[in-house]
Amino acid sequence: MKCKRCRRAGAAVELPSHHAAFCPDCFFVFFRRQVKEGIRKLRLFSPEDRVLVCVSGGKDSLVLWDVLMEEGYETEGLYIDLGIEGYSDRSKEKVLAYAASRGKTPIVVELSKEGIPIPEAARCVRMQECSICGTVKRYFFNRVAAEGKFTVVATGHNLDDETARLLGNLLHWQRDHLARQHPFLPEAGEGLVRKVKPLWRVTEMETAAYGFLKGIDYVTEECPMSEDATSLVYKEALSRIEDKMPGTRIVFYQGFLDPSNPLRKSPEAAYEPDEEEGGGSPRACASCGAPTFAETCSFCRLKERVRKARSLRAGRASA
Ligand code: SF4
Ligand SMILES: [Zn+2]
Ligand SMILES: [Zn+2]
Repeated sequence: MKCKRCRRAGAAVELPSHHAAFCPDCFFVFFRRQVKEGIRKLRLFSPEDRVLVCVSGGKDSLVLWDVLMEEGYETEGLYIDLGIEGYSDRSKEKVLAYAASRGKTPIVVELSKEGIPIPEAARCVRMQECSICGTVKRYFFNRVAAEGKFTVVATGHNLDDETARLLGNLLHWQRDHLARQHPFLPEAGEGLVRKVKPLWRVTEMETAAYGFLKGIDYVTEECPMSEDATSLVYKEALSRIEDKMPGTRIVFYQGFLDPSNPLRKSPEAAYEPDEEEGGGSPRACASCGAPTFAETCSFCRLKERVRKARSLRAGRASA
């Protein structure tokens, strides 16, 4: 089959949802256009912004960094080493190697050095690794962005991720979560940085194809802490629908993002305080100065719980 754009080269990627098939070069043009359109449509950021790209070592975030650099945005990569034996080292290796190939040195935060490696923290406070991970990552996104004067933080969530989350939220009528689901969360006072998902228009398959054809070497294993089997079920269900009715995913998600959709609030609603955090507008954490809706931020409260659990264990061990 010939490429439907240049009509010369052989097609390497077939995209039924776009009624198209592209050779590698034309696919790169198509993919970058999709990302640019996603940025433009939702006004995620502009060439004046300094973008902090959160890179995990997986394909999505490295592809995102690659596209943003190629498009001339001012970017730096942030790698958060979660302290997961084996997996974190392998992921970091991929990030460092990719960054070096583009003449970059990523910012690295090591949670072991910060006193809160995810597996140990989860054991100490008897919480799910992923919920601790979410709190800790959000904290460092804001902190590193403030320290480095970045105006926006970008993550590599793609259309499959976002539609799986949307389907899950709809099936369980999680109205609060629905209100918070958007590829654009605006900045707010006291250091809450803007957060964006520029890959929201491209699928996982398209991202994987871009990474493969570009020769980006990424970590293929899943995080061993991942227990979110339900999101895989939603992804599979949507893939089966997409196979039968190409283009359904993007229609589903764009319909949700439509401002006239009564289920969706404005992106600012994401910062409406919840029960756990208390009321009011964001203020500085009394302990570390990070943005919070409560007296101290959730990261400091978590660290304090881990500290107490550690000293309790140490006390028991020496008794
Ligand atoms: S699977 Fe859980 S612990 Fe692993 S990176 Fe994702 S959120 Fe963090
Ligand atoms: Zn072509
Ligand atoms: Zn704090």
